[in-house]
Amino acid sequence: MKHSDPQLTRLSELPSSDHHRASVNSTEELWTRVEQLLAVAGGQADSSNPSSVLFENLAKSIDRLRELLNERDRELARLTERSELLACAQAEAIVYSAEVIDELEQVKQSLSDARGAAEEAAKDNQRLADTIFERTNDAVMLFEDSICLACNDNTLRILNCEREQILGTWPAVFENAKKEDGSPAGTLLRSTLESIRQDGVCQLEVQLKSDLHQAFWSEITFSRFCMRGSTHVLVVVRDITARKHFEAELRRHRDFLNNIINAVPDQICVRALDQRLVLVNDAFCSAHAIDRETALGNDLNTLGLSDCFPPIEMAQEQISKGDPCKAIERTFTTTTGEHKIASIKQTMFADQDTGERFAIATSRDITDDRDREERMRLLASVFKGASEGVAILTQTGGVCEANPAFVSMVNDHLTKPLLQCRLDEALRVEIEGFSDALQSALSGNPWSGKASVRSNGWLVRSFWISLSLSSESQKQDRRIIALVSDITELENSQVELRRQAMHDNLTGLPNRVYFRDNLTRLVGLADQGGCELTVCFLDLDDFKHANDSLGHACGDQLLRLVAERIQMVMGKETFLARFGGDEFALILQRRHYSIEAQNARFDQLQLAFHEAFYIDDNEIHVGLSIGVTHCPDDSRDAGTLMRNADIAMYAAKNSGKNAIRHFQPEMQNQVDLRHRVQTNLRDALSDGEIEVHYQPKVFASTGQLAGCEALVRWRTSDGRYMPPNEFIPVAEQTGLIFPLGELVFEITADQAVQWHAAGIVPHIAVNVSPHQLRQKRFIDNLQNTLTRTGALAKWFELEITENAMMDDVEQNVRILKQLSAMGFSVAIDDFGTGYSSLSYLKSFKIHTLKIDISFIRDVTHDRQSAAIVRSITSLGTGLGLSVVAEGVETLEQAILLESMGCTILQGYFIGKPMPALQFRDWLDRWQKQSSLEHALELGAHI
Ligand code: C2E
Ligand code: CA
Ligand code: CA
Repeated sequence: MKHSDPQLTRLSELPSSDHHRASVNSTEELWTRVEQLLAVAGGQADSSNPSSVLFENLAKSIDRLRELLNERDRELARLTERSELLACAQAEAIVYSAEVIDELEQVKQSLSDARGAAEEAAKDNQRLADTIFERTNDAVMLFEDSICLACNDNTLRILNCEREQILGTWPAVFENAKKEDGSPAGTLLRSTLESIRQDGVCQLEVQLKSDLHQAFWSEITFSRFCMRGSTHVLVVVRDITARKHFEAELRRHRDFLNNIINAVPDQICVRALDQRLVLVNDAFCSAHAIDRETALGNDLNTLGLSDCFPPIEMAQEQISKGDPCKAIERTFTTTTGEHKIASIKQTMFADQDTGERFAIATSRDITDDRDREERMRLLASVFKGASEGVAILTQTGGVCEANPAFVSMVNDHLTKPLLQCRLDEALRVEIEGFSDALQSALSGNPWSGKASVRSNGWLVRSFWISLSLSSESQKQDRRIIALVSDITELENSQVELRRQAMHDNLTGLPNRVYFRDNLTRLVGLADQGGCELTVCFLDLDDFKHANDSLGHACGDQLLRLVAERIQMVMGKETFLARFGGDEFALILQRRHYSIEAQNARFDQLQLAFHEAFYIDDNEIHVGLSIGVTHCPDDSRDAGTLMRNADIAMYAAKNSGKNAIRHFQPEMQNQVDLRHRVQTNLRDALSDGEIEVHYQPKVFASTGQLAGCEALVRWRTSDGRYMPPNEFIPVAEQTGLIFPLGELVFEITADQAVQWHAAGIVPHIAVNVSPHQLRQKRFIDNLQNTLTRTGALAKWFELEITENAMMDDVEQNVRILKQLSAMGFSVAIDDFGTGYSSLSYLKSFKIHTLKIDISFIRDVTHDRQSAAIVRSITSLGTGLGLSVVAEGVETLEQAILLESMGCTILQGYFIGKPMPALQFRDWLDRWQKQSSLEHALELGAHI
């Protein structure tokens, strides 16, 4: 190591004599020399000399220098020491350096090796990259600033273009890319490329379409990296069309499976072993009103559905028992509160990859099934328990199912099993047009009809059969439901009912309905030129009286006897009917009886009724009025014939008892008249058409006025008088007799008041209809009229016919008592025609007997009539009653009657019924002549 001191060097280089230079070898020597020099120089110099000052300064400097040198020397020594140390260290360092250099050499060698290896590796990488770049199936492109710098061959193939079309550009194929939904994806691709972050990777799936190629699906991966200080993006385009197709196929599969699962009407739920739901279908969701998202991942407990499915353990247990698919029934309540029954099947499966196990449960809502089953059970019980026979038939009528009721109807003597029989065979009936009926039922038109089982012509059983197509029928295998009712009893009772409906209970004879039917039938035959008929209506005379007086049981018995007698006389060929009451009717066919034979029978019949009937010691006489009409002479219509017979019968009645009348067209007038009366009488009452005429009564002995009888007259609008016999019966039938009776009494009472005022005081007889007697207000009405008019009851005699009197004896006794009490006299009119017994006469409060006009008519020439008149007179007078003979037309009669003891005479001989005004004139005339003439006339005859 070189070490030098520049100051030192300069000192040494100070100018000196060679001597000095030659002899100074060390510092001490030098210093000695300097001191010597100084001592020399000091001795030669004084203080006034300038060189002496210089010298002094020099000496000081030299001292200073010496000090410095000393210090330097010390320093030098230190340095030397250090230098030595350094030298040592340097030596060591050199040794070390040598070692380091060695190592460096080695490092350098290994670095060189390494670089070689690295270069090799880089080359490998490059090769690898190139290989990957070229060999990959994907299109690989390198972009910088959206410009393609490089691309592999695949790019050209996949994008179907030339390299020049790509390099240096943004490939057009990217521009035309489309997204999944068909919208353009070019911008997206470009922006993705531009915005991708350092070292970022981004992937897009788009549809690419080169000019020529079909569109294909590609997955484009962008990855950014830095190379030589600038940003590059590697774009890898992979054709994923196949994958897309696969995915689409998978999706389709998945959707298909989902659709299947969701189309299953049963609920499906799949649970993992931790109870989590991993799959539910639509049926599950809608049944529990839950959406799929809520359901999946949750367990049934959390969802509140633990009741709906059995626990998974149950499935495991079942599987362990080797009975995995057994259905379990569970009853639960839905969120809407409905009670449901579900049939649940559970099974398990394991994921093939993970081995994870799942429980799959299907739940079927069987509530409706159960309801249906219940209904079916009910229907079956109805089927079994029905009293109607029910059978299910094949299309050909074979029985394939039958309920017990049907079986019980089936004939015991079936030769083959029921299920091999046809319906008609089974019931052993002949059903008319059975196959047509089956066809009708099969075509949807139910059929029903009656079928009867007969044995030896007798009806044994009757069935009502209805056939209808089963609504459950399949097209090919249609079934017919047969309902079979055993209507034997019904039929029998209907026959009986029909018989009853067609017959009269009392006599067992056909009734009016039957009569009309039969007549209609026979008239029909007559129409075809078959029958000539005679139709008769028969009405008993005086039956009502007999019925009332003997009692109804006796009356019934009488009717039976009458029926027998008619049938007996007329013969069994005569169709006899009873219409009710005392009305009978008969049909004679000309083929059985000629007209002559018929007339002979009628005569016999009338004769037969002259004979009395005997019931319980009672001798009963009833007459028969007969109306006759002929078919086809009078009519060819059943209704008209019946009306004709009725009219003729009325005519017979009106002509007196026990008569027979053949229909004459004029008789119709009578009927018309009745009709007219019926319609006009009411107005007549208020229009003043009703008048009262008075017929005088005189004492037989003196010819003095005894009184008069008030007789009603209807002066119709044409000025004609209609006789009471024509309208009183109609008034009685229509109830108009009540206002009519009241009106007559009122007119009479007014008249009586006037006469009394004028000094004429006849005792006025007023006729009372039996209907009036039965009227509750009869007495009150009489009283009211008296009060209103001021007339007195004692001025009047009320005439009540004998028959009316006998109608209801007890009540009439009561009424007569009341009338008497009021002051009225009471006369029994038409006496001798009825059946009043003497005991009754005693109990009735009466004052007068009026002998019936028929006896008076014949009194002079008929001994019987005379005898009757005589006995009535003696009876009456014996009872203290006055006896009136009415209908006295001749002097002869008058004399005879007077002689017989009649108290009072009435008749045309004395005076006809006349209006009140004429009555006064008559009275005047009568009174003038009566006493004289009466005496003369009577005397002359006596
Ligand atoms: P009746 O009560 O027997 O009345 C007597 C009938 O004989 C009267 O007939 C009278 O005109 C008639 N007559 C009287 N003298 C003779 C005679 O010498 N020869 C003939 N051939 N006949 C004579 P009229 O007025 O036609 O009355 C008939 C019947 O009508 C009455 O019979 C009576 O039953 C009824 N009648 C009349 N006026 C009334 C009335 O105001 N009320 C009721 N309920 N019935 C009445
Ligand atoms: Ca009378
Ligand atoms: Ca009379």
